[in-house]
Amino acid sequence: MTPVRSPGGFPVVGVIGGGQLARMLQPPAVALGVQLSVLAESTDASAALVIPSAPVGGHDDLDAVCRFAAECDVVTFDHEHVPAEVLAALEANGVVLQPSPAALVYAQDKLAMRRRLTEAGIPCPAWAAAYTIDEVVAFGDEHGWPIVAKTPRGGYDGKGVRVVDRATAPDELAEWLDLAVSHRDSGSGPLAGGVLLEVLVPFDRELAALVARSPSGQAAAWPVVETVQTDGVCTDVVAPAPELSAQTAAAATHAALRIAGELGVTGVLAVEMFQVGEQILVNELAMRPHNSGHWSIDGSVTSQFEQHLRAVLDLPLGEPTAHAPWTVMANVLGGDDDRLYPAYRHVMARDSGVKVHMYGKGVRPGRKIGHVTVIGADLDDVRARARHAADYLRGVIDE
Ligand code: ADP
Repeated sequence: MTPVRSPGGFPVVGVIGGGQLARMLQPPAVALGVQLSVLAESTDASAALVIPSAPVGGHDDLDAVCRFAAECDVVTFDHEHVPAEVLAALEANGVVLQPSPAALVYAQDKLAMRRRLTEAGIPCPAWAAAYTIDEVVAFGDEHGWPIVAKTPRGGYDGKGVRVVDRATAPDELAEWLDLAVSHRDSGSGPLAGGVLLEVLVPFDRELAALVARSPSGQAAAWPVVETVQTDGVCTDVVAPAPELSAQTAAAATHAALRIAGELGVTGVLAVEMFQVGEQILVNELAMRPHNSGHWSIDGSVTSQFEQHLRAVLDLPLGEPTAHAPWTVMANVLGGDDDRLYPAYRHVMARDSGVKVHMYGKGVRPGRKIGHVTVIGADLDDVRARARHAADYLRGVIDE
């Protein structure tokens, strides 16, 4: 369906990918009178359920993407999986892409990102690219075992990340190393640059610095948050990160703003980091609204979703200040029961301050299907309430 333009000169923002991030752009788009159009994976994709203009098409289908983009004033992304050839064709057709392909590559390819950040002097874990087990062993012997091995492209939620030691590396990495050699020899494929090796950082905790930057170069930063991961999946986000020194918070924000500026990022940029003592090391980048910023919907003056729209449209950015001393966002992961709505009565009756966000996604164990947010002045209380609501919705507690 062709997007219907609102009268009054309002633009159409196209989003490639119909997941929950595209879906959560819709409330601020409605408020701003901006029309969204989403290229969705299917008619029942999370965003397609709430955005009237949601043609179905693959993000790697050149014709579908070009037809879709021709109807939009600006095109942005729900994920980083659009292939470079498709991005290049869109650019050649004059489509305005925010962020640009030149910036996006550093969110698509962890090796390119490591190389670029190292060049820019941004602190990262020690790393190398490998095609052979000898290179892997040499890296581990130099930096200490175990090490972390990653596929540079296509991973999410810890898929594509393996911790290996000297004894398990040959078996665990054989397949990736073989693929890397064949992708390198054929000149294409997600592992053409090699397998990414990193030291296993003995971090105290994980942080995320979320900033937004507009094409004109204006930038805004939210408070640095703590992200808590379980089995590679983010379960809770606390804003701001508790007991973070002003100096480390400033270093994290400064690194994120520098990355945004140096790489020419437009829209929201999430920089995932490890904290080791007072030091921060960058883990990875996302150039779109990010799970670590969901707290901002209920917890800050301008949510990451509104800010992303303002940024990609090159509008002046909004105030990122938090409403309360603490905000805790807890992800609702799929459990065994796929009937979610009946749980609302208890969650809402028990705590009228809990804000529930559901993504319209089918329940699969461990899948992110929604989140809850609580704000307040007492961190322990806010955290316990958010955790309770998320656990109850998941079905792991029943009172
Ligand atoms: P994905 O792209 O799948 O989210 P990440 O690179 O963010 O993968 O890694 C997922 C998780 O694995 C991180 O959040 C962190 O907990 C852990 N991890 C990744 N790299 C390292 C590392 N070098 N040292 C220690 N832990 C790591």
